[in-house]
Amino acid sequence: MSLRFQALRGLTETSTEAVNGSSHQLNGSAKITGIFAENVFTLSKARQFLSDEAYKSLNNSIKAGQKIDRSMANQIAHGIRAWSETKGVTHYTHWFQPLTGTTAEKHDSFFTLKTDGTPIEQFEGDALIQQEPDASSFPNGGLRATFEARGYTAWDPSSPAFILETGFGKTLCIPTIFVSYTGESLDYKAPLLKAIEALNSSAVDVCNYFDRNVTKVTATLGWEQEYFVIDEAMFNARPDLVMCGRTVYGHNSAKNQQLEDHYFGSIPERVYAFMRDFEKEAYVLGIPLRTRHNEVAPGQFECAPIFEELNLAVDHNTLLMDVMDRVAKRHKLRVLLHEKPFAGINGSGKHNNWSMATDTGVNLLSPGKTPKTNLMFLTFFVNTIKAFHDYADILRASIASASNDFRLGANEAPPAIMSVFIGQYLTKVLNDIKQRVGDKFDEQDESMLKMDIHRSIPELLMDNTDRNRTSPFAFTGNKFEFRAVGSTANCANPMTVLNTAMAATLKQFKSDVDKLIQKGDKKEIAIMHVIKEYIIASENVLFEGNGYSEEWANEAEQRGLPNVKTTPLALDAMVTEKAFKLFIDNGIYSHSELEARHEIELEKYLKKVQIEGRMMAELATSHILPAAIRYQNLLINNIKGLKEIGLEDANYTSQKELLQILSRHINEMSTSVTAMIEARKKANALENTREKAIAYGEEVKEKFFDKIRYHADKLELLVDDKEWYLPKYRELLFMR
Ligand code: ADP
Ligand code: MG
Repeated sequence: MSLRFQALRGLTETSTEAVNGSSHQLNGSAKITGIFAENVFTLSKARQFLSDEAYKSLNNSIKAGQKIDRSMANQIAHGIRAWSETKGVTHYTHWFQPLTGTTAEKHDSFFTLKTDGTPIEQFEGDALIQQEPDASSFPNGGLRATFEARGYTAWDPSSPAFILETGFGKTLCIPTIFVSYTGESLDYKAPLLKAIEALNSSAVDVCNYFDRNVTKVTATLGWEQEYFVIDEAMFNARPDLVMCGRTVYGHNSAKNQQLEDHYFGSIPERVYAFMRDFEKEAYVLGIPLRTRHNEVAPGQFECAPIFEELNLAVDHNTLLMDVMDRVAKRHKLRVLLHEKPFAGINGSGKHNNWSMATDTGVNLLSPGKTPKTNLMFLTFFVNTIKAFHDYADILRASIASASNDFRLGANEAPPAIMSVFIGQYLTKVLNDIKQRVGDKFDEQDESMLKMDIHRSIPELLMDNTDRNRTSPFAFTGNKFEFRAVGSTANCANPMTVLNTAMAATLKQFKSDVDKLIQKGDKKEIAIMHVIKEYIIASENVLFEGNGYSEEWANEAEQRGLPNVKTTPLALDAMVTEKAFKLFIDNGIYSHSELEARHEIELEKYLKKVQIEGRMMAELATSHILPAAIRYQNLLINNIKGLKEIGLEDANYTSQKELLQILSRHINEMSTSVTAMIEARKKANALENTREKAIAYGEEVKEKFFDKIRYHADKLELLVDDKEWYLPKYRELLFMR
């Protein structure tokens, strides 16, 4: 029996088993507060397990965002081990985020032997602070050629140690950065931390115009993660899902999302059991999940936490993706994080809700209630728009990936055009400022600051309709929402770019305002003038209409906004003079680091397309064509038989017609597959990575993927169902 039919037969059984099997685990702890961060070495646990001295040192490092003091490292390490041993932990690992897109771990045991052979458990400061995994098998974009292969991981104490429980035991995880021996970053976290620091420094300077007490500005992130859930046996029967994370073939089912009956509907039992289970693990790990619901497409769901400090939020997202994957397997389910697992129905994104908060407790993107706080809000609001405007191409590059290409601009997600949505009311506010602040600032202008922007927020949220859903970057009342980020992405990359762009823009703002103040302008007047200038300079990027529409694509072109649809070309923006200047000036990336990252992203792209191309060819020749040919033979024999017994031609014209159609699809599919393989060979022969990636995109994917798929999907409809071994969309999406 084929895997498809086994999967279908087993479904009822697995489904009940999974629901029943997990229910007992859920009743154990009623309150989330009772288990929250149980497996995290929080400051309150540090208080318990560390000496006063060590605790203070750790606390200071966290506050200052610095590495921990070497002289305290042993004490801190011993405290962490003591705590983790109370939880039954035997191994530890430096947990990091290399540019592969997944997390990496290399486990070592506490267990060791003393020189005389006595077995002991030990965890020294050195092991806590720094490790030296072999960097050579992680992507390094050529950095390895010039530098040593070794890299090291170093603890970043702003993200606390935690214990990961898997079926096989418990491991103490130390969140670290990963850098080459000569200091080039090889991961997502190291540049993110630099960007957070750059933003802090520029934002504090600007805050001090309004409030001298601000000494720290923290970027905040609340992500919304979309995903699909399908049955594991069905998943296993689809080699394309196993290998590529998406279906390269599959005819739409008769019903998909057109009835809109899935969105916010009741969550299916089996998925609900899975959600409860992964949520519980998330809480234990200190991930503050808040929301769960069905998404638009059948089989699609979303979860979102309460926002946190950016670096921690990024760790929590990557950790959660891992947890979801593992817990799903326990439930005999699979989570699909791919941006577009199924053609013809909505894909998945990861909205990045972003803002900035001061250590005085102010959200800098929350409209003020007084003239002074209004001006502060406007300052950060307009600077964000300016940053997005000035660095739109680099932001576009930061969300580019082979899988996100399927989603951007497919009329279900924001287009590849980077624009900003701010709502009617704030549009009017910005227009007023533009028109009213003259060369000389006067009393009338001062009255503008008295506007009650805060009160307009309910109105703004009312405005929060379908329109803003189509925008890649929308202001939603007290934060901006970067919606074009893909569901598989590590948020660190887009967040690094956004925060760096903001840091650079605020720095420029400060310098522009100071110049006017030196010329004798009153501070508020100088600020208003620069705000006005920035509004004018960046208004091109503001768009309130339907981002999915063709008119917008045309208008954007007239406005001169870039609309780069594919990854290899979008990535060009990472290595322009502008990008080098932005990242080097702000201390985020060196020239060679940027070039390396560019190379890595291109390679990731082309390898993904290459794998998909191979998968398409393999499934075509080993699954689809054989099934179609078996059916073709059936028809041939049928027609032959009918002829043999002397039936008139007219009685089997439909069989003949069917045979003709079938044969045409078989033939065209088969020749397209051969041609695609030829195109791949040509692309492979190219030396230059960028050219190769473009060739894979244009000559392999664009020319052949849809074409081959068209015939395969037609064949799926024609061929006898029992000859078809790949689970169909209706089975993948609706049966669980
Ligand atoms: P929606 O966007 O679906 O209407 P919410 O507005 O409640 O939902 O928020 C979505 C996400 O935005 C949540 O993760 C939330 O914690 C986050 N969020 C809210 N305020 C901020 C903020 N100041 N900074 C960053 N994220 C925030
Ligand atoms: Mg949202």
